[in-house]
Amino acid sequence: MWRCPACGIVNSKDLVCNYCHAPAPAGSTTDPPFADWSLRQWYRFLRLVLAGLVCVVLGIWLMVDPNARENPKIFSASDLLLGLGVVLVGVILLGVGFLSMRRRKQS
Ligand SMILES: [Zn+2]
Repeated sequence: MWRCPACGIVNSKDLVCNYCHAPAPAGSTTDPPFADWSLRQWYRFLRLVLAGLVCVVLGIWLMVDPNARENPKIFSASDLLLGLGVVLVGVILLGVGFLSMRRRKQS
């Protein structure tokens, strides 16, 4: 992160100001969120994201695939709630994964 000396905008990604295109002062560094991650942090993040994606896909599949229902001919509220519940768990896992990424970025 660096603050543009010309206009005061805080930039993180480029070494040229996003707003006025002034060059970054000497010693500025770009701030890619993953650059300083250890293997363990990557593993934890990927595991959360993968688990979240699996839950979302599974939940959608539970809602869409008639064979997953108790009675394939009827789309019941319990089928819908089960699917939505699993999707919600997946979304929460994804959220936790991306929140941990953002927390890491701020530190
Ligand atoms: Zn600027």
